[in-house]
Amino acid sequence: MKNLGGVFCRKQCLVAVLLLATFYLGMNFVTIEIYVKKNLSLKKRIEYNVKNDKTRTFSDQVGSESYADSNIHDVNLNSTSISFEHTTSASRRGDIPCPDKSPLLKGPVGVNFEGAEKNDSNWPPTFEEIAAAYPTLENGGYYPGPNDCRTENTVAIIIPFRDREEHLRFFLYYIHGILQRQQARYRIFVVEQDDDQVFNKGQLMNTGFIYAHNDTRFHPKCFFFHDVDTVSEDDRTLYRCRGGNEVLHLSHRIDKFNYRFCCGMTVGGVIGMTNEQFQKLNGFSNAYYGWGAEDDDINARIVWIGRFSIYRPPDDYIRFKMIRHENDKKNPKNNERVALLNSWNKRQSKDGLNSLQSTITSVVEYPTHTRILVKPKPK
Ligand code: UDP
Ligand code: MN
Repeated sequence: MKNLGGVFCRKQCLVAVLLLATFYLGMNFVTIEIYVKKNLSLKKRIEYNVKNDKTRTFSDQVGSESYADSNIHDVNLNSTSISFEHTTSASRRGDIPCPDKSPLLKGPVGVNFEGAEKNDSNWPPTFEEIAAAYPTLENGGYYPGPNDCRTENTVAIIIPFRDREEHLRFFLYYIHGILQRQQARYRIFVVEQDDDQVFNKGQLMNTGFIYAHNDTRFHPKCFFFHDVDTVSEDDRTLYRCRGGNEVLHLSHRIDKFNYRFCCGMTVGGVIGMTNEQFQKLNGFSNAYYGWGAEDDDINARIVWIGRFSIYRPPDDYIRFKMIRHENDKKNPKNNERVALLNSWNKRQSKDGLNSLQSTITSVVEYPTHTRILVKPKPK
């Protein structure tokens, strides 16, 4: 009995020791994981801070004052390890794939900016009215896709922005309807320059891309870089990347130029690229401060670095309306633009996503869109 007792005790002790060791190691792993999660990525830090922001109501958030006390500061993109390994997950909705052509499309959208020109205070709708018009939107202007089918079309809309609130309200009002009728799964990112310096559209686009690429709710396959003042007049104009060798330039017929592709236009307005395509180009150049030529620069990257062709859908219904506006005071014509463009090729490999030094100062999720406040690297 003694002997048996000894064996039994030894076995029990051994099991106990093993259990304790496993528990101890397990705890260590958990701790390490939490540590890594807390410290590693920009994405996580922003997420944490955004969560803290959720207590605010929508109207609270709309007032610009409310950003001043935001607790997100100095999130430097340089400290981010950008992971480009995402595989795109399918929509979590349903098992049946959505049809190639959505049955919800209705054709002409009836884009109307006139109310604004006539000083009609009911038009464009307010952010609250837009949110009410699209009740299935989730926070941050995220739409998880239709309920009854699974969509593979995952889209991030990236809008460079500053001081164009009226344009943004028009834009949001129309784009949500268009994308939902197209059965896309999407999120709207408004990347706003958060200082009084000269506008830098390229840095805003690159920052928006990195943020959207690290989105926690979905991993967008397709990125649209979209002027805020340019709106599609027909919902059959598909926000769906071509992929492969083709970059999509959607806004090649605009009212301002009598709906003709002309006059040395390149890829301004609305352009769609997959994340692989955009990374191959090293994104936009960060070097253009002020108005002009940053779109000619990316055009050169598309053609000569990507060796991509630019697809402009030929269908007659492809039409965009632009909101008329004055020149922005803080976005003067860039006098260096011609010289910069002439030397695009020398800079391309070291000027773009891999050298971005902007700072995200705040991220706020509204019902209608995600607002990312950014300080570009000072000139
Ligand atoms: N933009 C902005 N605020 C500015 C300057 C530019 O929001 O002060 C954004 C906005 O999305 C706009 C885009 O950058 O549609 C292109 O600038 P702009 O409209 O001046 O160029 P255009 O094509 O009219 O010459
Ligand atoms: Mn414009």
